[in-house]
Amino acid sequence: MTSAVDVRNVSFAYGDSPVVKDVSLTIEKGEFLGLIGPNGSGKTTLLHLMLGLLEPGSGSIDLFGEPVEEFSAGERIGYVSQQSTNRGGSMPVTVREAVKMGRFAHAGHARLSETDYAAIDQAIETVGIEDLADRRVNALSGGQRQRAFIARALASESDLLALDEPTVGVDAESRDAFYQLLESLNDSGITIILIEHDIGVVTDRASRIACINTELYHHGDTESFVQSDALAEAYGATGTVVHHDH
Ligand code: ADP
Repeated sequence: MTSAVDVRNVSFAYGDSPVVKDVSLTIEKGEFLGLIGPNGSGKTTLLHLMLGLLEPGSGSIDLFGEPVEEFSAGERIGYVSQQSTNRGGSMPVTVREAVKMGRFAHAGHARLSETDYAAIDQAIETVGIEDLADRRVNALSGGQRQRAFIARALASESDLLALDEPTVGVDAESRDAFYQLLESLNDSGITIILIEHDIGVVTDRASRIACINTELYHHGDTESFVQSDALAEAYGATGTVVHHDH
């Protein structure tokens, strides 16, 4: 069986500053991987490498069994970047139109069938934004906008969702509901990669954890991470650990 993502000995530098150093890790299909590390530790860079948005300086990456640089089934990947959830982004289309675009990507053409329209409705319903379907995406709150992006990914039948700190600026209640949604999508078989600074959220929700600070400090199931010293080691020199209180 092919993995969702296979990262082999990948290094990357901006100029002379190494940001990712000799990282190897495999994400199996159906996994919920929490990617953690202090600020500036290379999480976003590693995610961009995995998705083929950056080219590694050395090493190689496969996405669903294909070299990432040759991977053409973009509709299989849903990516919610930090920017996409910032307020004031430019997306002057309605939620339904945005989700429809996701369905175009899946269908490969613009003539949608009844089934396609049903899939669009279903995606909007799954993330619970039926009442926002005719609102413009750029008029939504951060939390609502994330749901719209996820609905678009669902309509394109993405089987990998990558999210970079998707709940920054979202109130605690919506945040919890959002993570419940992610968990149920993962239960339905979608592979999830989540960058999140709140360690508690990650240990509560993710099945596996990769902890990096340029180098990989830990990669394994959540249980073994909690029992390891990886957190203290990776965060030791630099960051502040954020704990989730509940
Ligand atoms: P994280 O997501 O863990 O906060 P990033 O991957 O965003 O970390 O950044 C890792 C390091 O690379 C940081 O020191 C950051 O300043 C630097 N960096 C990120 N993007 C660029 C860029 N486009 N050019 C130069 N340096 C960058």
